[in-house]
Amino acid sequence: QFHMIKHEDLIWKESLGQGSFTQIYRGGKVDRQDGETHTTDVLLKVLDVEHKNSWESFFEAASFMSQISHTHLLMVYGVSVHKSKNIMVQEFVKYGALDLYLKRSSVSLSWKLDVAKQLACTLNFLEEKNIVHGNICAKNLLLARGGDPNSENSENSPFIKLSDPGISMAMLGKEVVLDRIPWVAPEVLEKLELGQQCDKWSFGTTLWEIFNGGEIPLQRLDPKQKQRFYDQRSQLPCLEWAELADLISQCMQYQAELRPSSRSIIRHLNGLITPDYEVLHASGSVPE
Ligand code: ATP
Ligand code: MG
Repeated sequence: QFHMIKHEDLIWKESLGQGSFTQIYRGGKVDRQDGETHTTDVLLKVLDVEHKNSWESFFEAASFMSQISHTHLLMVYGVSVHKSKNIMVQEFVKYGALDLYLKRSSVSLSWKLDVAKQLACTLNFLEEKNIVHGNICAKNLLLARGGDPNSENSENSPFIKLSDPGISMAMLGKEVVLDRIPWVAPEVLEKLELGQQCDKWSFGTTLWEIFNGGEIPLQRLDPKQKQRFYDQRSQLPCLEWAELADLISQCMQYQAELRPSSRSIIRHLNGLITPDYEVLHASGSVPE
């Protein structure tokens, strides 16, 4: 179920790179109403032609996003088909992907905690609806508002939107899925099938990314070594902030049914008090 958008109503602007089997562009969508035209900024995701047999899965991701609505879920306007081109048309989010943002700007622990709470809220929404996203990671969190890392005012806090999950694991193939270690839950690798608890694991990995400044976990491992990482039931390096490290390791438990409920994740996050060493970390790195 999705809205079809006419190809001639799309405006194409610069390329923003590529994703899993996709090319990404910034663009516009022309809306006509009562003789007036209006253009909305959009993001255009084009499925690679070599993978056009994945179109059903690609459009399923679009449909998934169109059917649910939440403040922290990205809006998908619809899809467009032109000749052999399959395009997903979605909301353009100003500050782009969170992993890249964290790499180029220094933000406080309370800023990061805000982002974590917003994601936990989204996780809770999905859990209540019995929906599994399947591709939660910092790259798929888009930043709609950067906020002021030094302000306590909520108007100045960051605002994230969770992007679409993209092509399903079953279509991506083993190689790409291995590359998704340590985001993909270990049990998913065996069946290439999403279970109710797999988003919790990915949430844990995403927390790790957020609190490590957008660093890519296990970046230097090749697919074989990544597989071994899971086979040996390894864990990511522990964060300095013990209470947060504890939450991450609860989420990243190999035994899926032991992972906490999203309500208990929210409770854990709300109970955290940013430790004093934040001051040490922030000073000197934040410009006046
Ligand atoms: P995957 O299914 O693996 O997530 P993808 O096709 O969604 O793949 P990404 O790698 O998630 O592609 O996105 C590529 C880049 O495009 C991101 O790093 C981000 O900078 C940018 N981007 C993606 N979606 C948006 C959006 N809605 N608004 C602004 N920028 C975006
Ligand atoms: Mg994405």
